[in-house]
Amino acid sequence: MQDLITGLIHHPYEPPKGFVAPQPGVFKASTVIFPNVAAMRSREWKDKTGYTYGLHGTPTTYLLEERLCALEGGLQCVLLPSGLAAIANVALSMLQSGDEVLLPDNVYGPNKALAEGELKTWGITHQFYDAMDPQDLAARINSRTKLVWLEAAGSVTLEFPDLCELVRICRSRGVLTALDNTWGAGLAFRPFDLLPQSGSTLGVDISVHALTKYPSGGGDVLMGSVITRDEALHIRLKLTHMRLGLGVGANDVEAILRALPSVALRYAAHDTAARALASWCEGRDEFSQVLHPALPDSPGHTHWKALCKSAAGGAAGLFSVIFKPAYSQAQVDAFCDALKLFKLGYSWGGPMSLVVPYELKHMRTAWPAHLAQGTLVRFSVGLEAEADLQADLAQALQKALH
Ligand SMILES: *Cc1c(COP(=O)(O)O)cnc(C)c1O
Repeated sequence: MQDLITGLIHHPYEPPKGFVAPQPGVFKASTVIFPNVAAMRSREWKDKTGYTYGLHGTPTTYLLEERLCALEGGLQCVLLPSGLAAIANVALSMLQSGDEVLLPDNVYGPNKALAEGELKTWGITHQFYDAMDPQDLAARINSRTKLVWLEAAGSVTLEFPDLCELVRICRSRGVLTALDNTWGAGLAFRPFDLLPQSGSTLGVDISVHALTKYPSGGGDVLMGSVITRDEALHIRLKLTHMRLGLGVGANDVEAILRALPSVALRYAAHDTAARALASWCEGRDEFSQVLHPALPDSPGHTHWKALCKSAAGGAAGLFSVIFKPAYSQAQVDAFCDALKLFKLGYSWGGPMSLVVPYELKHMRTAWPAHLAQGTLVRFSVGLEAEADLQADLAQALQKALH
């Protein structure tokens, strides 16, 4: 007679098949059960024909991977526990000692820190290029250059580069391109088909996406993806992913699967409100510059317009302002403290509007000529009513600066 607890663990009941609901079931596993030794011995984790171990994929992670490929126009996907882990996975897969990586000077800060920290100690060198000057990138590519990072729009200062030209240069020199596509989210432009109307195949090799932002939409999940259209590249990424043991939790995947159907609607709402607030800021006289790629005076506006003004085009929910130099750092800090709806906090893509004051002089190799002097503040526009957000900006300006 089998023990009660053994019977519980090996309980034979199976619910009826054929359950269909709007949201898929969530599968959780470290262990995956094989039907026999032969199946265990012949396990294959490189493609999605089966299952081997929770770390290497479950029905839940496969589902999210496929949906993200559809969103970004890629064919293969690797999921990681954060956007930054996705960036690091690309670097560790594509670079080895003696190689060089090029990063735009306005790249996501922690990507810079990775190059200046771990990569440097492992003998991988880096250079920063001016994302707004394709010739500067061309001049820096050398025989050791193995990877070029791209970002559109750039972090914090939101310059929009001539992405097509940057990719063309890298292709002609045989260098891999990796785009941090968090801002575009697969919605503002097609990273693997930069010129969809022209029939050209111009596109990036690798697209990295911090799902933490718009795909999550809640400010409560950390996750990243690395998407490719080339099986061999994907396998290199997947091998590194497997050897580093960078799995994602099923509950987090579930949260993203649940939020993904509304990503385009949310992106459009963030975009509309951010454009309106950025335009309103342009009309105020506290600021010497408002940075938002859809504003005609913003650096790279023509490139944004050429790439993103198609049917799917968009511009995310971020904009930055540079205060006139007459305002002290203390006054700008007081402005940020006086905001009530915009909360002080990093990241973006959730329902709550956020604000961060940045010290640009510590972030760039040189103060770019296209940026005004002064203190920079970045806003991430959430989903609150635009009029309330505008009133919040107005009251904080009044309280701190007048
Ligand atoms: C937030 C962000 C990341 C990193 O995402 P995490 O999940 O927070 O690690 C990478 N790139 C860009 C452009 C981001 O905004």
